[in-house]
Amino acid sequence: MLISADWILPIATGPIHNGAVRVVGDSVADVGTLVELAAAYPEDTREHFAGCMITPGLVNAHTHLTLTALSGVVPPLPFVQWLPRLVAALKPWEIADHEASGVLGAEESLACGVTVVGDIAYGAAEVASASAAGLGGVYYWELLGMRAEDIKSALDALRFPEDPATYGTRVVCGLSPHSPYTAGPGLLTAVSEHARTLGVPTAVHLDESAAELQLLMDGTGPLSATAARTALGFTPPGSTPVEYLASLGALQGTTAIHLCHVTAREITLLAEQARGVVTCPRSNRYLDNPPPAIAPLLDAGLAVGIGTDSSASNHDLDLMAELRAVRDSERTLSAVTLLNMVTAGGARAIGVERHYGSLAPGKFADLVIHRVAASSEPEAALIDHAGRSTTEAVMSGGVWRVLSGDLLTRDSAAARRAADARVHSLEVLNAT
Ligand SMILES: [Zn+2]
Repeated sequence: MLISADWILPIATGPIHNGAVRVVGDSVADVGTLVELAAAYPEDTREHFAGCMITPGLVNAHTHLTLTALSGVVPPLPFVQWLPRLVAALKPWEIADHEASGVLGAEESLACGVTVVGDIAYGAAEVASASAAGLGGVYYWELLGMRAEDIKSALDALRFPEDPATYGTRVVCGLSPHSPYTAGPGLLTAVSEHARTLGVPTAVHLDESAAELQLLMDGTGPLSATAARTALGFTPPGSTPVEYLASLGALQGTTAIHLCHVTAREITLLAEQARGVVTCPRSNRYLDNPPPAIAPLLDAGLAVGIGTDSSASNHDLDLMAELRAVRDSERTLSAVTLLNMVTAGGARAIGVERHYGSLAPGKFADLVIHRVAASSEPEAALIDHAGRSTTEAVMSGGVWRVLSGDLLTRDSAAARRAADARVHSLEVLNAT
């Protein structure tokens, strides 16, 4: 099949005017001008999108799909005030509520043109439903508030797959020791070692709030009670979050999320040891945390991805809106650099660049048709205008998921259950 539009932005190479992508099965087979590909493959069926441009499926490098039903439930607040409200909002939820909310998150992601996620996963059912909906990427099983020796039993209870191919080749299962204030030093080290043994990736929330810095420096502040309860064995290291993680051997190969107060020394450590970094500027703003300066991270050679984080700390899962937030705070970044962070850069940051993030032969046929026109400089036009409302069509793994702006399949039972869960959360918060 040849899919063509006014512009193709393969990311791996420069934009192609009047371009086309050849899809065979679940993969990209060729990319070029429509004239070239039509001549080379005259038997192929054709689908043309006039007035549109095509990018790879977008990579939301950090999100929590199962929190999608909490959209608008917890208002913007400083992080340490928001966190207990989030915990309270989740109190009435049963496992089926998490699963339904995860389905909602997967559908909403696809509607925004996201086909790849770095998701903090609640468990096996969520990963199964998200991957069935067409969402690839890395699902990090979250581990916190436990002893290092309990990792294996916890993963068994959460049905972490022994076989890496359980969810097919589009899905990678990883591990996440939530953060330095909810996972003790023994757990941070042990998760890292266990992941290396299994050959799976890790991600960690790191350096999000000023309270986290204070806790690590001297053990005081608003997160000290949380740490005493959940970060078993924690004693303040008197160092910054990245330095702390490096001292535990847990920075090596991980994806670090947030880095709101990152220093030059930490950037050097990250560049030496981490797989990549993910920043979530609108979530940072929602929780009154300063987003990091991205240019120094890129200058250090780091793979930088962008994430929406969850719907509980953001207004939506629209990754292009997230990108505009980056553009508005970092005017020196070019449109090409910005677009790279939600495609190839994001894929590198979570370690899935072999399959995702660009349109090139052998990659998965994940593509987004944006209803955005441009006579020149298509990247700039895309960043100015693209988003959920301009998503004309989405393909993942060679299958259409969105056409004419509409999701082709929706799980209405999950939507009802997620809506009820949201109401229960609101009732709890309104009663406190
Ligand atoms: Zn998060």
